[in-house]
Amino acid sequence: MNPMEAVNRQFHEAATLLGLDEKARRRLLTPTREIKAECAIVRDDGSEETFIGYRVQHDSSRGPGKGGLRYHPEVETNEVNALAALMTWKTAVAGLPYGGAKGGITCDPSKLSAREKQALTRAFVERIHDVIGPYTDVPAPDMGTNAETMGWIVDEYSKHHGWSPAVVTGKPLDLGGSVGRESATGLGLLYAAERLFEDHGARIGDFTYAVQGFGNVGMWAATLIHQAGGRIVAVSNSRDMLWNADGLDPAAAAEHVRATGGLSGYAGAERRDPASILATPCDVLVPAALGGVITKETAGDIRARFVLEGANHPVDPDGDAILEEKGIVALPDIYANSGGVTVSYFEWVQNIQQYSWDEDRVTAELRKRMRTAYGPIAAAAKKHVCSLRTAAFAVAVEHVYAATRARGL
Ligand code: NAD
Repeated sequence: MNPMEAVNRQFHEAATLLGLDEKARRRLLTPTREIKAECAIVRDDGSEETFIGYRVQHDSSRGPGKGGLRYHPEVETNEVNALAALMTWKTAVAGLPYGGAKGGITCDPSKLSAREKQALTRAFVERIHDVIGPYTDVPAPDMGTNAETMGWIVDEYSKHHGWSPAVVTGKPLDLGGSVGRESATGLGLLYAAERLFEDHGARIGDFTYAVQGFGNVGMWAATLIHQAGGRIVAVSNSRDMLWNADGLDPAAAAEHVRATGGLSGYAGAERRDPASILATPCDVLVPAALGGVITKETAGDIRARFVLEGANHPVDPDGDAILEEKGIVALPDIYANSGGVTVSYFEWVQNIQQYSWDEDRVTAELRKRMRTAYGPIAAAAKKHVCSLRTAAFAVAVEHVYAATRARGL
């Protein structure tokens, strides 16, 4: 099932619960604007090359578009559209005053020099600067892009529109980035889990955890869960898995990764095949690497009671049906990993206010927002007798539909 089919399936389940007719569904699913742009650059060897850039603004009824910019060889229309729609539902469920957008350039960033990447970014901004902006569409980093890329976008956009740090989030601190952005998704995941477990009469420290993916999301999630008293029994990346039934120290493992470039050789745990992490005995599984890992082939092996979705789209609809059958509670990505976009929102707010917050304020506001966003999801799950995923989509679709109607469109 391609990403668009999967997102639309979840949308239609929610729309059916809400009793939305065909016209309303079509209105909500049709993207506001799809852009496909030629981006030509001069390579370092003097040759010319043309790349294709995409930006899809899926919905803007609740506010400016918000979503990442991905540089990857597999960027194409269908995926960008699916991810843009997912952002519409994510910002709505998180209660942020944004719509959904996503973009990217089909390229292999590992084969581009820093100068070429900068030229490509500027060529793309040249094409789209009239249709992005602090009150139109606010890009952010995604796969293959980072704070440096966002800095180039601020510079190029500001040439056309004057000083505009709020045109993107995920910027370097010196250009108006926010403190706390790096750990935001992992911290949001911790706060979301805290709230979910309260409903089950439990706390973070009551459980064992296996974390797939030891990059930004996985490393922070594992470290913060460990600090909150949770026992991390396994972590993995694309090459290795570390396992220790007595628990391992993710901060020390992260230090080992920084020093050696990988997990292998870390002394405090046994090394295992990374493919086995999903089936690791634990209470809580945290997929924080790739999409589409929990499928009809893998879901049956999962032994956890809870799945905290750090990655985008880690569970496909067939995998989801098996989790439900087994009584495993999945905390859905559109809520569970929304800490990142929430702190992006704080960055945008700080830029607009021209006033910066300290880390304590970012952390406190994030906790408040994650806890607040959970309530309507749990209530919708109870009301409709459905999974938290369907409930989260129902909450999101209801908000976007209400905004669309309130605008009288
Ligand atoms: P990252 O590139 O920093 O880390 C990805 C990690 O996954 C790496 O450790 C990599 O080795 C590992 N990995 C790759 N293939 C694997 C495999 N087959 N098995 C085990 N591990 C594997 O990426 P990230 O920013 O941490 O993002 C991870 C996921 O979270 C993605 O799905 C991303 O879309 C999603 N996400 C990220 C953020 C954010 O703020 N970074 C926010 C929301 C969602």
